[in-house]
Amino acid sequence: MGLGIGPLGFQTTIAHSVTLSGTGVHSGAEVAITFHPAEADSGIVFQRVVGEQTISEFKAVSSQVGNTDLCTILGFSPATSIATIEHVMAAIYALGLDNLLIEVQGAEMPIMDGSSAPFIDAIEQTGIKALSVKRRYIRILKPVRIESGASWSEFTPYDGMRFEVEIDFDSPLIGRQAWKGDITPSVFKTELSRARTFGFMRDVERMWAAGRGLGSSLENSVVIADDNTVINMEGLRYKDEFVRHKTLDAVGDLALAGAPFIGCYRSYRGGHKMNANALKALMSDPTAYEIVENAPQRQRQAPREVIAVNAP
Ligand SMILES: [Zn+2]
Repeated sequence: MGLGIGPLGFQTTIAHSVTLSGTGVHSGAEVAITFHPAEADSGIVFQRVVGEQTISEFKAVSSQVGNTDLCTILGFSPATSIATIEHVMAAIYALGLDNLLIEVQGAEMPIMDGSSAPFIDAIEQTGIKALSVKRRYIRILKPVRIESGASWSEFTPYDGMRFEVEIDFDSPLIGRQAWKGDITPSVFKTELSRARTFGFMRDVERMWAAGRGLGSSLENSVVIADDNTVINMEGLRYKDEFVRHKTLDAVGDLALAGAPFIGCYRSYRGGHKMNANALKALMSDPTAYEIVENAPQRQRQAPREVIAVNAP
């Protein structure tokens, strides 16, 4: 988790501003976002902008999340909120970016290809810059578990940042799939970042009828037909792309902790809501974690891993 970037244990931002544009998956509208460098301790901040005017600003932390039904939304009113932040947040968290100002011309993030890869590319293109202030981590001290029907998720102590995500769908195409691994920038990039969002054709049709998901298409979603085949001509990017995308989502959802965590996050049949509730349960128990400045031993001993660093 960025645990390996630059001078170890120091906060980061990007070297230069970079803009991306694309379609908003819920509105179907064209949206543009610009990542700007930000000072140490400012965190990840989203600004909704119309023309030159800033109409709202949110720090990307769980207390600012208004809704997690279809996607993760910052803010509590549609007029000012910013939607679909999870794939952007996953890229930011996995690359170890601590500080960033994200200017949004529109009401949601562009969906791009339905994965985190385009955001990783944009960030790598500008480069990551170390700042002179130490990074803080959230170290898990004891297990915190939540359950909801057959679904559950939990944090446990672990010397690194680990995800173990399992899904179990009625669809024989998906079935039971699991992904387990320590998140580092390179693991995220190669194993998770390209996994796309997915849905069933019948749900897509229902969403369209309700005026939602207007921007969703085969260009940004894996769509599964009633006969349990993938409609997309190009097929899947990974054999188990579904669980990889769910893991990517979990990385993005836990990024709302506001700092990298040191521990293991496990989930079974989870989703945005469960990830958000697990984070809430962790944060509401001050005996379950501590804030530390030391990177995990595992990462301290690993060779330094630098992702495209441009000289300032
Ligand atoms: Zn997703």
